[in-house]
Amino acid sequence: MKKPNLLIIGAGGVGAVAAYKAVQFGSEFGTITLASRSAGKLDAIAADVAKRQPGREPLKTCVVDAQQQVAVEDCIRELDAAIVLNVASPYCNTAIMDACIECGAHYMDTALAEVEHQEFVPAPWYENAELPRRSAFAANKLNAVLGIGFDPGAVNVFCAEAKKHHLDSIESIDIIDVNGGSHGRYFATNFAPDTNLREVREDVVYWEDGGFRTIPHHSRKMTVDLPVVGSHDVYSMGHDEIHSLSRVFPETKRIEFWMGFGAHYLKVLEVLNELGFLSSTPVEVEGVNVKPLQLVKALLPDPASLAEGYTGEVCIGCDITGIKDGQRRRIFIYSTCDHVACYEEVGSQAISYTTGVPAIAAAVLLARGDWNPETMVNAEELDPDPFLELMPEVGIGWQVIDLPLDGSWPSDRA
Ligand code: NDP
Repeated sequence: MKKPNLLIIGAGGVGAVAAYKAVQFGSEFGTITLASRSAGKLDAIAADVAKRQPGREPLKTCVVDAQQQVAVEDCIRELDAAIVLNVASPYCNTAIMDACIECGAHYMDTALAEVEHQEFVPAPWYENAELPRRSAFAANKLNAVLGIGFDPGAVNVFCAEAKKHHLDSIESIDIIDVNGGSHGRYFATNFAPDTNLREVREDVVYWEDGGFRTIPHHSRKMTVDLPVVGSHDVYSMGHDEIHSLSRVFPETKRIEFWMGFGAHYLKVLEVLNELGFLSSTPVEVEGVNVKPLQLVKALLPDPASLAEGYTGEVCIGCDITGIKDGQRRRIFIYSTCDHVACYEEVGSQAISYTTGVPAIAAAVLLARGDWNPETMVNAEELDPDPFLELMPEVGIGWQVIDLPLDGSWPSDRA
């Protein structure tokens, strides 16, 4: 049977990891192409992938502006791409989804669609751009797997794993993301700065008692003590997962996303925010319209450039409570990832790595037909078993541990 051709759009930190892993699992696909606007980035990634994996089928490249639906359609048709993995900017999601529907290609992404300048979008977010397109994917028996990076992505699968194998019912889900690493720069974001800086300054949306709650950013904090990375302050933050998990598991009393931030990061963020540098609304500077956030993005280090010298590890997981066989149970399903090991393997930092690996594991499952919902889904709607079996083979292991029911974190953990 003909293997499906894979098109990866986006030549940033995540795109580079996805390209490397796709080539490593090249026997699962037909041709593999990386597309982006800048030929220079494509050539650099293709050369690096070829250097690290000599003897494998080389990565093809294609220049495309993925905000232009027709250009993406041309690209899909020319390459006869059957699976399109979107790891470009979230501003490209709608054009790429519509091109996939038009050309009959399966679609995957790692982040919700965004519209430039739009902030503080009311919940539920998937209702805006993604779910209105679900019937078109279903009518054409096409797969669209949304948000299949790590968070969102693998953590959504962890919730499906909890429901399928560890708990009869779920009471609360706390998704916790701690980057215990250090890149040594004064201030930088680990992925696309505009998306990252927008999401950390917006009001926090979380799910409680059957509805969405909104609170000011960084107003809810707790201290966790996670495997490998240890004790960290984490803050409640609005995130994609809350909007799909609450649709798939609406009976869950509380669903919340927490991210670790250090005092220095929060101070710089506050100053930038107070001065208006995180706004996407253009301001006129000597007759030129400048978007402050885009200016900040241009000045900050490229996330991919942080990889060299990045030390430490990340731990991302789901702290889930519920009932099993009539008893309350609390589990933590998680993965850890070492920045140095990622750099040695693929030349990337762990945030890009933890996003690219699940995306390619999911692409392999689509290519094999092991995941084939023939409609648009979030990862928690799919069978977690094949994914969690494959993800360690692609590059990231995972574990389940029991935690104390009183909400504490054991300090004697290895
Ligand atoms: P980067 O900003 O490093 O890279 C994005 C790339 O997309 C750029 O290199 C750019 O390349 C390309 N791009 C942007 N606009 C277009 C366009 N119009 N047409 C074609 N290509 C375009 O981001 P990351 O690689 O760090 O992140 C990629 C995606 O992954 C983002 O959506 C991010 O939100 C998501 N993400 C998800 C995570 C998860 O766990 N779910 C975690 C981290 C990131 P060029 O300039 O050549 O066009």
